[in-house]
Amino acid sequence: MSIKCRNCGKEIDENSPICMYCGTEVPESEISPEAKVTMHTSNVPSSSNASSAKATGAALIIIGMILDIVSIIMIVSSSYGAFGIVTAIGTILFIIGIALVANG
Ligand SMILES: [Zn+2]
Repeated sequence: MSIKCRNCGKEIDENSPICMYCGTEVPESEISPEAKVTMHTSNVPSSSNASSAKATGAALIIIGMILDIVSIIMIVSSSYGAFGIVTAIGTILFIIGIALVANG
């Protein structure tokens, strides 16, 4: 499959960034997906997903620790009603964070 130049109307190679007849730039949307992939692959870090999962895990660990500390302060100040659920949420976030850091 080939595309037509928007300037001179001649059929040109779909993988070419410019028209081989008149030199007009081919809009990126008209270049085939395969050509785009080969053009941009070198710029994309392959480990981006793993590192973002680790960052999320680290954030969850910090939030979980803060919630557990808050729950301890609640025990000390005798606000006993909310203590259980805050501790539970903090511990769950902490565990999820460790899992993300370990697996990511
Ligand atoms: Zn042309």
